[in-house]
Amino acid sequence: MSVILSTITVQAHIKEIGVIKKIDHIGIVVNDIEEALKVYQQALGLSLAKVQERPDQAVAIAFLPTGESEIELVQPVTSDSGVAKFLQKRGEGIHHICLEVDDIEKTLADLREKGLQLIDEIPRTGPEGERFAFIHPKSSHGVLIELYEYPKSATAHK
Ligand SMILES: [Zn+2]
Repeated sequence: MSVILSTITVQAHIKEIGVIKKIDHIGIVVNDIEEALKVYQQALGLSLAKVQERPDQAVAIAFLPTGESEIELVQPVTSDSGVAKFLQKRGEGIHHICLEVDDIEKTLADLREKGLQLIDEIPRTGPEGERFAFIHPKSSHGVLIELYEYPKSATAHK
């Protein structure tokens, strides 16, 4: 009975803050995308959906779909960005987890209210109209979390 009650509470809670739909992608920071593709594309056999330069974030990225989610390879292109410092300090590895949400503003407002530290108070907009924002890992048990909202017209960005 207590299990049922707590499930109901959790569901009501999710409704209030906007729905988290799935893990959209996992970001992996690498020294060199070309080198990393030898593993993720050639050895693992994942298909490469796109490679993009993202000067707004001082990175180059590659997306490799894996069913419902994707792997995002992230290579810093300057030495002074947050992601470049992450790579210098911690080496290659998992950098962030991205959750797709249905309403990023609602989710951000709710998290702010709950005292979480946001890196982006206001969502940024990517080249395909997607909106995204990061939650500081200090607020999420050591994991950098990215929130993603696709434009309403797009079903998926594959
Ligand atoms: Zn990402």
